[in-house]
Amino acid sequence: MVNNWLDIIQDRVFPPTCLLCNLSSNVFDICEPCAISLEKNTNCCYRCGETFESSISAPKICGKCIYSPPAYDETHAPFIFQSGMRYLIHALKFHNSYKNSRLLGRLISESLQNTPGLPELIIPVPLHPIRYRQRGFNQSLEIARTVSKQLKIPLDYSSCQRRKYTLQQSDLPAKRRKNNLRNAFTITRPIKADHIVILDDVMTTGATANELAATLKKAGVNRVDVWVCARA
Ligand SMILES: [Zn+2]
Ligand SMILES: [Zn+2]
Repeated sequence: MVNNWLDIIQDRVFPPTCLLCNLSSNVFDICEPCAISLEKNTNCCYRCGETFESSISAPKICGKCIYSPPAYDETHAPFIFQSGMRYLIHALKFHNSYKNSRLLGRLISESLQNTPGLPELIIPVPLHPIRYRQRGFNQSLEIARTVSKQLKIPLDYSSCQRRKYTLQQSDLPAKRRKNNLRNAFTITRPIKADHIVILDDVMTTGATANELAATLKKAGVNRVDVWVCARA
């Protein structure tokens, strides 16, 4: 009942208009042509989500993941980080287009409908308190709220914290990203789940997800997947 009222209030405050072209859309925050125009990341490594150049017919792992397996087990990145998807994520993060988080969460949830073996718990990638104060919200948590509600998976945004204030990953070359993140996260209370998913807006090199997954595994979690809206 409470959730229904929240939906009604949210639809009044953010009526369903396409967030890309501003035309009306019936029930969703994106119209059909704009939804079709978002490039899908279907041809990718199941472990890290990186797009393959040539098409594949069965789930496949990339050379990088074979040579140096990441701490996370699987990545689900339904879209490629370009054009409309890049705009939606940038507008959310840097221009406080808060309502984009609802659409991004819905797009992730829709892409996971009917997927067997969903995780028991969602952990959004935490922001350091300084960055949180600068931005005023954590975009990963806002996206995760919608995913949690739609897929009925509990959300945990307090057991894992970011204790190290790191430079923006996007400002660093790939080689320095791993060092920048070393020991960036800490677990503040026991996590009672065997299979967890880390949720973030976009994955670029996977260094953030890798560090967080390694921290969770050290804390006893058996399987860690990664869900992001888009893969760069
Ligand atoms: Zn549109
Ligand atoms: Zn890979």
